[in-house]
Amino acid sequence: MSDKVVTRFAPSPTGYLHIGGARTALFNWLYAKHTSGTMLLRIEDTDRERSNPAATAAILDGLTWLGLTWDGEPVSQFERAPRHREVAEELVRMGKAYYCYATPAELEAMREAARAKGLPPRYDGRWRDRDPSEAPAGAKGAIRIKAPTEGETVVHDRVQGEVRFPNKDLDDFIILRSDGNPTYMHAVVVDDHDMGVTHIIRGDDHLTNAARQTVIYDAMGWDVPSMSHIPLIHGADGAKLSKRHGALGVEAYRAMGYLPEALLNYLARLGWSHGDDEIMSIKDMISWFDIGDVNKGAARFDFAKLEAINGAHMRRMSDAELFDIFIGTLPYLEGGPAMAARLNDANKAQLLAALPGLKERAKTLIELVDGAAFLFATRPLPIDDKAALLLNDDARKILRGAHEALNGLASSWTAAAAEAAIREVAIAGGHKLGAVAQPLRAALTGKSTSPGVFDVLAVLGREESLARIADQID
Ligand code: GLU
Repeated sequence: MSDKVVTRFAPSPTGYLHIGGARTALFNWLYAKHTSGTMLLRIEDTDRERSNPAATAAILDGLTWLGLTWDGEPVSQFERAPRHREVAEELVRMGKAYYCYATPAELEAMREAARAKGLPPRYDGRWRDRDPSEAPAGAKGAIRIKAPTEGETVVHDRVQGEVRFPNKDLDDFIILRSDGNPTYMHAVVVDDHDMGVTHIIRGDDHLTNAARQTVIYDAMGWDVPSMSHIPLIHGADGAKLSKRHGALGVEAYRAMGYLPEALLNYLARLGWSHGDDEIMSIKDMISWFDIGDVNKGAARFDFAKLEAINGAHMRRMSDAELFDIFIGTLPYLEGGPAMAARLNDANKAQLLAALPGLKERAKTLIELVDGAAFLFATRPLPIDDKAALLLNDDARKILRGAHEALNGLASSWTAAAAEAAIREVAIAGGHKLGAVAQPLRAALTGKSTSPGVFDVLAVLGREESLARIADQID
């Protein structure tokens, strides 16, 4: 066997790729990349009622948006049912599992008895040592694994440490139902083995499953993969993650205007860190990530932090790259489709030119849509409430002077030339620069905040700038 690392992401297709699943996928992907290994994808679609092609497509779409690529074709767990059956029957042949014909009424009585004693429901092993010839005629039994009854099963977990499970607590659980379908517990082991998975990285809600799965590995004589059970994500208040906290599908984060790289950076930092490094590129994460460095404690999801990280990624990204992502994401953003419909070569060029100023003020692509709106507005501009306050009678008088000065600009129309002209207007009228710049901003953008007003003038161009100012004077 080679030492090549093989990880896998094994989502159940329940409708979308939720944020916790995205982090599990990220850790598997980072570990595979870090070790020059591969990450496989298995869709755990055995629950036929909840699984459908649309749900699977949503997961693939979410992974693709995040850039979390998998190797080879996704494996369908459902399609492997014959192989799961074969292994269960092999275990029976080896004497490691057996057919159980307990009736539903008998099982219910066992549960009742356990409940009465305050114990967890357990199967009492009544078919464990019976001869197959005692099988009731015509009955189709379920296959149960012969779990060890003494000692303990130890899970050597790279995140949780050595976790010990007393075997007396593990009953002979079902691996193949009487209808011939495998249980989830069994299917996962057979799939991981057959797919050559060397490292299992998943949520710590699967830790007790790891003990039961170890029983199956041992029964087959298969190597147990390296296990890492990562802590679940909690809300900022420490409670289980709910929708309010951010337990949403990744497509919701796309619609909120987060960059894939920033979301990955944030998710990586939830439960893992590299010194004091906050802002990391994908390359940084790949070279620094190690599963052994993941913390045991639950991580807390914090929107404010995500936003700050997103803003930092936007600022440090090249304008050309941010521009491409912005244009590509427009269809998903509120107000984005309307902007996309109005894109043309001229305003695209303006947008690119305005981007350095816009990205300084935006923490998300949604804020960028908002900030860039002035480029797409048509005259007369809608003026928002705060901007309207800046356009009182005194301000309009000052604007008249500004219009005259800009109109008379002899030199070429640049930010520097506009700034010189406006400074002169301020000095001549005995105003502070802001008393001229603020109404000017309101007239040019319809808002009270925008990139630097001289940059706005330069980007809008002479004709449009003068016309927008004139609209507020008359
Ligand atoms: N399908 C399981 C889930 O979505 C994951 C199982 C596993 O990773 O072993 O939680």
